[in-house]
Amino acid sequence: MVDELLGEDVSLWVGTTKQTHYPELNNDQTVYDVIVVGGGITGIVTAYKLLLNGLTVALIEKRRIVDWTTGGSTAKLTSQHYLIYDYLIKRHGKDAAQAFADANQNGIDEIEQLSEELAIDCDFSRRSAYVFTNEDQKFEAIKAEVVAALELGLPASFETTIELPFPVKAAIKFSDQAQFHPRKFLLALTEQFVANGGVIYENTEATNIRTGEPHVIVTNQGELRGNSIVQASGEPFWDNDMLKGRMWPKMSYALAVKLKEGSAYPQHMYITTDDPLRTIRTAPYDDGEVLIFGGESHEYDEDSYNPDDHYKKLIEDVYKRFDVEKVLYRWLAGDNMPYDRMPYIGPHPDHPSIYIVTGYRAWGLAWAMSAADVIAGYISDAPVEWAKHFSLERLKVPALEEDRDKGV
Ligand SMILES: Cc1cc2nc3c(=O)[nH]c(=O)nc-3n(C[C@H](O)[C@H](O)[C@H](O)COP(=O)(O)OP(=O)(O)OC[C@H]3O[C@@H](n4cnc5c(N)ncnc54)[C@H](O)[C@@H]3O)c2cc1C
Repeated sequence: MVDELLGEDVSLWVGTTKQTHYPELNNDQTVYDVIVVGGGITGIVTAYKLLLNGLTVALIEKRRIVDWTTGGSTAKLTSQHYLIYDYLIKRHGKDAAQAFADANQNGIDEIEQLSEELAIDCDFSRRSAYVFTNEDQKFEAIKAEVVAALELGLPASFETTIELPFPVKAAIKFSDQAQFHPRKFLLALTEQFVANGGVIYENTEATNIRTGEPHVIVTNQGELRGNSIVQASGEPFWDNDMLKGRMWPKMSYALAVKLKEGSAYPQHMYITTDDPLRTIRTAPYDDGEVLIFGGESHEYDEDSYNPDDHYKKLIEDVYKRFDVEKVLYRWLAGDNMPYDRMPYIGPHPDHPSIYIVTGYRAWGLAWAMSAADVIAGYISDAPVEWAKHFSLERLKVPALEEDRDKGV
């Protein structure tokens, strides 16, 4: 194993954009229509959409916005979430699987439309997304996934070759997916939010909610009042116990590397079902490109957590597989993995004006656009019909033992 950690210890997205400097909360007596907790893609897009609906909105973030998982993703925009649709149809039924597929396809289109409408240059680019395997025993799973995806109208096809320098026996291709620079998109959206009267407090950590009319959010910088609260904090910061045993936390790692002069960069986006899991895409960088190479995902466990080992394995592997000139950036982030593979999006079962969005299973970027519509629908008393599939009401049904499999 390599014994050196290469690259700047920051994500490509954070390393290529300016730091934000929104103020911390300081004695704000306003009673907001909605307070959004969490400055990742879910919080920012939800806050933006609620403001457009004419509501007063404050967003609070415990560190800096778009700095944690959203700022640490590989930023593929795709409805292809590894292998999922065959599972979803069998486990949750076709309607739920269809809602899942549509929410993600719509999310990609919406980011494209919004960036065009608001003239946001966020390196949005249409690409195909591939899941591939070189293992005979995965062949049937790949085929079943193509059949399931086609049944849902997704742009899927079965392939036996890909452009990467890896041996491959079978692959699923989803056409017309996309990639982008999440911070370029979200920092610009945030500026629009503030220009239209939205309020952002950074370095303001929510620690408790005193429920009431209005609710009071207790933070490390004082209190803030709102009639509704959206917990877009990844794992909900308040009353998280109800999700115990329903999700598990996953860490993943990524590198951005420059290839040697004359090397060809892949054109599309890739992830393998094989061990070790690897995810690959490119991004514009300076006047050229960089390769993003990720993987090493594992369940987060405080006691055994050792990110350096995972970085070193990733660095060694990228040098083995590609003609690398330099590792520019390395980063890690975490996401929540529901055992039943569906995100939780909707009102808290006992507090209908406190909303929760969590559990994207490391595929939340296109999802977040549609999750924001779901939350905006509930808050304006016009719930989105398909939102029922992702409701927290399913917590009332005991978790199934067969869901215990920690599929990727
Ligand atoms: C390495 C990696 C690669 C990924 N790649 C992809 C990909 O290619 N495509 C894709 O679709 N998805 C990808 N994902 C998943 C995706 O990044 C996430 O699903 C998505 O970013 C989650 O967004 P979010 O806004 O819900 O959460 P976050 O981005 O985590 O935002 C939550 C925010 O809430 C803040 N917060 C938490 N607690 C509090 C509190 N008490 N008070 C105030 N603020 C608080 C946090 O600081 C954070 O900024 C990847 C994830 C990882 C880890």
